[in-house]
Amino acid sequence: MLNRRDFLKTTAAGAAATELTAAPTGGGKMIGIQVGAVSFVDEGTEKVLDIFQERAAINTLFLATFTYGRGIAGRQVPGQPLPDHGKQEYDLDFHGGNYGTVHAQYYKDTGIKPEDTRAPDHGSLDIIAEVLPRAKKRGMRTILWTEDVWRYDLPGIDKLQEVDLYGRRARRMCMNNPFHRNFLLGLVEDYARSYDIDGLMWGSERHGALGTALGASHGGGGSNPGAVGCFCEFCEKKARQQGMVRIERVKEGYRELERFVRASRAGQRPTDGYYVTFWRLLMRYPEILAWEQFWHDSLREVYAAMRDKARSIKPQLQVGWHIWHNNSFSPWYRAQQDLKELAKCSDFLKMVMYHNCGGERMASYIDSVTGTVYGDLPKQEALDFNYRVLNYRERGYEQIPFTGLSADYVFREAKRAVQAAAGSNLLIWPGIDIDIPTGKSQSKSTPQGTKDAVLAAFKAGAHGVILSRKYSEMKLANLSGAGEALRELKLA
Ligand SMILES: [Zn+2]
Repeated sequence: MLNRRDFLKTTAAGAAATELTAAPTGGGKMIGIQVGAVSFVDEGTEKVLDIFQERAAINTLFLATFTYGRGIAGRQVPGQPLPDHGKQEYDLDFHGGNYGTVHAQYYKDTGIKPEDTRAPDHGSLDIIAEVLPRAKKRGMRTILWTEDVWRYDLPGIDKLQEVDLYGRRARRMCMNNPFHRNFLLGLVEDYARSYDIDGLMWGSERHGALGTALGASHGGGGSNPGAVGCFCEFCEKKARQQGMVRIERVKEGYRELERFVRASRAGQRPTDGYYVTFWRLLMRYPEILAWEQFWHDSLREVYAAMRDKARSIKPQLQVGWHIWHNNSFSPWYRAQQDLKELAKCSDFLKMVMYHNCGGERMASYIDSVTGTVYGDLPKQEALDFNYRVLNYRERGYEQIPFTGLSADYVFREAKRAVQAAAGSNLLIWPGIDIDIPTGKSQSKSTPQGTKDAVLAAFKAGAHGVILSRKYSEMKLANLSGAGEALRELKLA
């Protein structure tokens, strides 16, 4: 566990370069919030920092600096009610990209022009230069939040993309593509050298070819089982070097899997049922599983390379990863999030434990998998099975979209993660849901719900919390709910 002394030790090196004028709050725990550039632009930097400190004793900013997505950048997404702060309008021209200054000299052989990734949303504003020194003066740390969400209209980006089962470029970046890896390492080097930051977090909300083919995630029911990859030259070469010589067998297996998924979703029950037929496929084509594993191993290589690069420049930087919410729904995806493996390439993990939107997302996952592998089961029975294997006690399929998951879910997930990380230096920072969008009539965040989730995370031994997804969608009263929990825990 990170005690106060360790916390000060990790911050001291970063703070040495500039004057630290205030002691960090949090009693040794990391209290973080995700925030994008637009909030500082709309509300004023000092004012936003005041709100963070006063309402929720925030001591660490997770500043969204590289993304083309509106999950962590931009204002409230259209169709959702605007919160009670910030400019009362939706983004008119959200673009995304790098919200810092692009220092092109750090990017080599990236296939795309690094300058093209500069976010044009706020003119010449460099949000890191704007926020970081002001945060530091208050004793707040700044971790840059970057994610694997791209625009595919960037010139040259096709050279970095995955190639699917049928040779088409997929709207996903290949983890084995040297241009892509060079870009990520360039970004890390740029941030580490150009700014006096405390750390970096990157996230990729994806799974390998098997997870993608099955759509085994929340919102996955409409996935295209033929658009799986990656079968680019780099992936194939690497696989051959690892002894996987029969790439054609991999493709054949995935084409069979594609037929199974399409027929299952069309309600065509195989003679021996969905579950047996799925396992028959896996046993006939173990290459299907090997290819899924190959993708996750490649992702962990990317993690390790990014962390090594950052720490080769500034050894005190904390580098870690956002772990996708699917970790809470899919046992297959969870099996890949082995904390013993992740501890080798991570200083911290932001493990998503969004309780409120978790209800409709869990139901959505069940909708998806009962369309394929669990087609033999009624939805409630599939959910009961899932609760058992994931060790949850939550409400029924019909209820959870309208109630969300409970604080007990956060407790169990945080406890599991802390136990799995025991014996390593890995820090567990659960991601806490504050006003993450849900369907119109479905469960919404409340101050009490936020408070209970934060209490549950710390009761389970978490080393910190990250209030998510972005300040620009949070209601102030719900943010204060987190603060109430911290006061009760004497962390504020
Ligand atoms: Zn590839």
